[in-house]
Amino acid sequence: MNTPAAVAHSTAPSLAIPKTLKGQKALVTGANSGIGMAVAAALGEAGADVAANYVDGDEAAAKVVEAIRAHGVQAIAYKADVSSEEQVATMFRDVIERFGTLDILINNAGLQRDSAFHAMTLAQWNTVLNVNLTGQFLCARAAVAEFLRRGVVPEVSCAAGKIICMSSVHQEIPWAGHANYATSKGGIKLLMESLAQEMAPHRIRVNAIAPGAIRTPINTAAWNTPEAYKRLMTLVPYGRIGEPEDVARAAVWLASDLSDYVVGTTVFVDGGMTLYPGFATGG
Ligand code: NAD
Repeated sequence: MNTPAAVAHSTAPSLAIPKTLKGQKALVTGANSGIGMAVAAALGEAGADVAANYVDGDEAAAKVVEAIRAHGVQAIAYKADVSSEEQVATMFRDVIERFGTLDILINNAGLQRDSAFHAMTLAQWNTVLNVNLTGQFLCARAAVAEFLRRGVVPEVSCAAGKIICMSSVHQEIPWAGHANYATSKGGIKLLMESLAQEMAPHRIRVNAIAPGAIRTPINTAAWNTPEAYKRLMTLVPYGRIGEPEDVARAAVWLASDLSDYVVGTTVFVDGGMTLYPGFATGG
């Protein structure tokens, strides 16, 4: 697997997704690229109607909608900045009006503004915290309001609602040169856990996914040359890069009743990146 050929070609399994989300309504933030795009399509394949949020890139958003609709479900693209309280409120109002309600939130939108710490500007710090962390707070708050209003509808799901926070292995692994990003992901971990604890009595399940190295535009430089790929593989015991579909399958499972007793946990989808691979040869 650890060959230059693997740089260009996915060696992840290609598996059909079972219809475990029939009749459910989902909103995915940051859904016109990378992981969000794959998750949105997979939720559609699982039978959910999906609102695909994005902040720019109308054409890519239209493509996601097309991919979701190909599964015979409803899909809409919705442009909104998740770090804006006003835009998030309007988005949830419109999506709920269109779909009737909401069952699943995938809090996925995220970005990086990398810098050596001593040179990091306040703007770089604030942009990352505002989108990655405050954005998840604003969207989760709006979703919870709808879940509490409606409660459990047993024919649809055992739970009153499901929230999946896209975190990162960097909620655990410190990351020099990316202090703003690692801080945002560490924050997501405790936001998710505190929210899960508070909402569990209402049958609202909140969990997170922590991807490792996934082949998306956010980290192109880490995988798009044979040299970079080889270097990356020293961090991945499983010996291949992750594909957005690897994360999407975990998201479908966490959103479905198949994971009904899974509450407040982080599922690492990382090929073993968090297993301290440097110790594989004795440390
Ligand atoms: P990506 O750059 O391909 O996609 C990010 C998405 O977020 C895009 O659709 C973008 O438009 C959207 N977005 C950015 N700012 C936004 C805003 N203000 N409002 C709404 N949407 C906004 O990146 P990706 O790799 O697919 O990342 C998705 C999530 O997964 C992020 O939270 C990222 O931190 C996380 N993640 C990615 C990896 C990886 O290796 N790719 C690893 C760990 C975690």
